[in-house]
Formats: sequence, C-alpha cells, structure tokens
Amino acid sequence: MPTFVYQSFTHTDTGLVCDGVSLESIVERVDTPVYVYSARAIRDGYRAIDDAFAAHPHRIHYALKANSTLAIVRLLRSIGSAFDANSGGEIAVALCAGCTPADIVFTGVGKTRAELERAIAIGVGAINAESGGELDRIAALAASQGREARVALRDNPDIDAGSHPNISTGLKINKFGVSLEDARTIYRERRGRPGLRFVGVHVHIGSQITTVGPLQRAARALATLALELRDDGITLEHVDVGGGLGIAYEGRPIVSAADYAGAVIPEVRRTGLPLVLEPGRAVVGHAGALVARVVDTKRYPDGRRFAVLDAGMGELIRPALYGSYHQIAPVRPRPSPPAPWDIVGPICESSDVFARDRALPPLEVDDLVAILDTGAYGSVMASNYNRHLLPAEVLVDDGQWTLIRRRQTIDDVLALEL
Ligand code: PLP
Repeated sequence: MPTFVYQSFTHTDTGLVCDGVSLESIVERVDTPVYVYSARAIRDGYRAIDDAFAAHPHRIHYALKANSTLAIVRLLRSIGSAFDANSGGEIAVALCAGCTPADIVFTGVGKTRAELERAIAIGVGAINAESGGELDRIAALAASQGREARVALRDNPDIDAGSHPNISTGLKINKFGVSLEDARTIYRERRGRPGLRFVGVHVHIGSQITTVGPLQRAARALATLALELRDDGITLEHVDVGGGLGIAYEGRPIVSAADYAGAVIPEVRRTGLPLVLEPGRAVVGHAGALVARVVDTKRYPDGRRFAVLDAGMGELIRPALYGSYHQIAPVRPRPSPPAPWDIVGPICESSDVFARDRALPPLEVDDLVAILDTGAYGSVMASNYNRHLLPAEVLVDDGQWTLIRRRQTIDDVLALEL
C-alpha cells in the first residue's frame, strides 16, 4: 500500500517516487547525492500564494535566495513570477532566466558600489535600501549616471517573527533596515533628492514564520508608514511585505497561504496600494528532496545506531545551522519495525547531523534515503567544505526528469586555484 510522505514524494512498489518518477532510476544515472525537485510542487506553491491574494492587486517577487538554480528560476518566470534578488549574482540569474530588470526588486543588507551601479544602470523595479546612508549613495550614483533610481526603504518594525533567532530579521537587535521612527524622517529628508524616486515601503521580519500574528503586525506597521508618507506628500507605488511564510516540515498544519492573505490584505487595503510579496520557502520548500546513500552504519555498546550518508552539511546545512527538522524517508524501506537512528553526514564536524533518534526501518550500506522538504535553502547553501563537490540537481516534470545542474567535478573546483 503506498505510504503518504508528501504529495510529490510518495512510496510505491518501486520505492520512493517523485511525481511518479522512481528516485532509484534517477540515482542509477546521476548517482548521489542529488537534489530532486518536483516542477508540479513548485507551480502549486507559487499558485497557492497567487490565488490566495487574488482579492488585492499584487505581484509575487519570488525570493531567489531560497533556490536560484537556473531551471527553477526559468520555470517560475514561465508562470509569471517576478523576483527578489539579494546580490548582483542573483540579479544576473534572474536576467539569464528572461526576467526584465523592471521585474526585479533588489534587497540586501550589504550591497556593494558595483552592485548598486549595475542595478541603477539596468533600471531594476526597486532597490530596497537598508539605511539612509545607502539611499545617499544610491542618489549620488544615479545622479552621476543621469538616471533616477527607483527606491524603497526597508523598515524594521521591531516585531518578533517567532521563528529561529538566526532567521528572525525584524527585531531592533537585528542588522536589517531602519527603525520605524527613523523611517519617516529618512523619507522626508530625501524627498525630491535628484537621482531618487521613492516607489515603496519594504519590510521582511524573518523566515519560517508559522503564525499569522507577526506577519499581520508587520503589514499593519508598514501600511501605517505608507499612509503617513502620503500625508507628507510622498506618493508610493507599492507596499512590499517581504516573504517569511513558513512550511510544515514536521507535517503539522501551519499558516496557509489563505490565512496569510486574510491577515495581510485588510491591513494594506487602506493604503490603496498594490502589494509586493517576496515568498521563497513557501514556493519551493516542499518541492525538493536530497537523495543520499548510506556509506556506513555502526552501533555503539549503549545501543545508539548511526547511519553515515554521502551527503552532509556541505550539501544541506540547515540542520547544523539552525537545528532544523527534515523528514527522512528510506527510498526502499525494509519491512521491519523501526528503531531510533542518528542520521549523520561525512563531514569532520560533530554538528554534521541530520537527525537524532529518528525512528526508521533498518538501514544498510548502499541504501538510499531522501531528506524531504529541502527545496528551499538547500542547494543554494551548499559548500565545498572537506572538498566535497556540489551535488547534481534534477527536475521532474510531467513524468520525465532532466538534469538541471551537473555534479561539480574536482577539476571545476581546482580550475579556480592558481
Ligand atoms: N525577502 C527578503 C528580504 C529575505 O531576506 C528573505 C529571506 O529571508 C525572503 C524574502 C524570503 O523569505 P522566505 O523564504 O521565508 O519566504
């Protein structure tokens, strides 16, 4: 009987499949570790948010930082997504995927002069500035190019996102944006400055937010600022509420896209302005699995069992970085009762652990396991630590799979070294 794991990754008689395509068949050709993504789940993730916000004019600027593999960016572009880029590199990927500069918002706490010059020159839709000083630099660069930069200011409303401290960005202690008290003054002082055109207000209070309260309060604070600016004669074009909507890593129900929209739209409606949304995780998180192979097992005298995989924190750092939880599914589970396992990676760090005491069926060397819900902040955060090579990536669409990024080779890595 098929066991439900997640809608795109299901167990069948041929083992775990992604939208009907056997993960074993992919591994036979591509080897492990490999990220496998469901195109259907990505489209569904995007459309769930788009449909939820149908009652209010809005534009989804998918946050490239969640996953910027070119084929995925192209897929999102093909269904109408605009983009939120966090660096010159992400802007380049968006352009390569066929995005027009006007459909890019450029966010980022430390934009370099070269990145700003280029963003102004190509005319991105908005630069979300992080400080008054950055606005001044943008104004000077734009004026020297004889252009007007479209800008918004990232506001820090001092709201606790309630997620892991390392991915909460909207508190006073965080490095992001400017306080609401300062924001109004910063806008007022720079109103009419040559080279600047204020087009929006921006907020992003964190990621993996699992209750609507913080998202609603942030939208309310931003809408209030937009109305104050209108009173000051500063006419904006949009209210950018950032991203942050969480996903159910542990299978427990959390905030739906509809709940999110239901909380945000009434707050923003009073501004009469369209919304910009920057979701990342909620679009691609459920769509990916990291498939790895067991390379060793061992049992300590106290009974603790370890399965060592050929993927670790180099391929997926979230568990080591945030203690994050991911479901782990053997690709072909053995029909024996589960027991607690520590699922670990091969890296020489004790934090290189995917799960402790996880109830799983027996595992043996060469078994394949899938680490689920790794479509967001997975491959984008991969590194070459311990000289591991960046994994391959595969996209499953309509019953077919395509290699969308080949596995890195050691020659690729050494080619950079002199
Ligand atoms: N926008 C900004 C400015 C971000 O920093 C992030 C990520 O933290 C996002 C959007 C996307 O967040 P999420 O993937 O939680 O939707």
